[in-house]
Amino acid sequence: MTIERFAPSPTGFLHLGHAYSALLAYNSALESGGKFLIRIEDIDRVRCKKKYVSQILDDLNWLGIKYEKPILSQSTRFFEYKNVLKKLWKTNYLFACNCSRKEINIASAPNETQRFGPDGIIYPNTCINKLKLKNMPETALRLNLNNLDKENFSFFDKKYGEISFTKEDAIEQVGSIILARKDIGISYHLSVVLDDAFQGITNVTRGEDLLEATKIHVILQYILKLPTPIYHHHKLIRDNSGKRLAKRDDAKSIKFYREAGSTKKEIISMLN
Ligand code: GLU
Repeated sequence: MTIERFAPSPTGFLHLGHAYSALLAYNSALESGGKFLIRIEDIDRVRCKKKYVSQILDDLNWLGIKYEKPILSQSTRFFEYKNVLKKLWKTNYLFACNCSRKEINIASAPNETQRFGPDGIIYPNTCINKLKLKNMPETALRLNLNNLDKENFSFFDKKYGEISFTKEDAIEQVGSIILARKDIGISYHLSVVLDDAFQGITNVTRGEDLLEATKIHVILQYILKLPTPIYHHHKLIRDNSGKRLAKRDDAKSIKFYREAGSTKKEIISMLN
């Protein structure tokens, strides 16, 4: 059975882009007679706010989206995340990193081939060969792709078709990505992979800004022996000047449109 999900981070109000993503996932679940789940991605306890969670759920209800209950919140899963990190630490898939943003910038700047991946500058691997402690330290932890014992990977995307890539592609295009942030103990990349598997998600519908990051997710699924869902990385909804919508664009939030008297039909027509 198809199980789709919508996984908002409650750091702001839902905007048109989120509505597009949620409706696409919801309709796909409906069409296949499957299930639709909501997951609240609230690992960042400083930026995430309860008032956004209730507004998000209210907006989804207003859009006519029905979801299974109970809703999973990532903030209830820190214990599981830590256990997986410990396993990855033991099996040498992680290394500790104390570099600041500034240090990363300086270390990669002299290199004219400075490259950018899904999380910004590709980490110049300053800490990758540092002596390793037996116990996992409370610092940022990065994925060491050199230890991967598989060369070729692929996943299927409903828009882009079969996407194949190699270990070398991932090293070059994504690099040693952070799996545990120092401040919150986990990262989006690892939590999303663990929770998609935990909730039995078969189909992931999300914006195409995450297409590159999916390579790391597929690699993590391989390392952790988890299934790879079918992906659908859809177009991004942009404002009139062509800029993609951001959480801080309150003027494009569903709440704003609702308060201004827009109907659901009007919102949907803005998404096409
Ligand atoms: N919480 C992520 C976001 O709002 C979800 C991305 C995903 O669907 O994997 O961007």
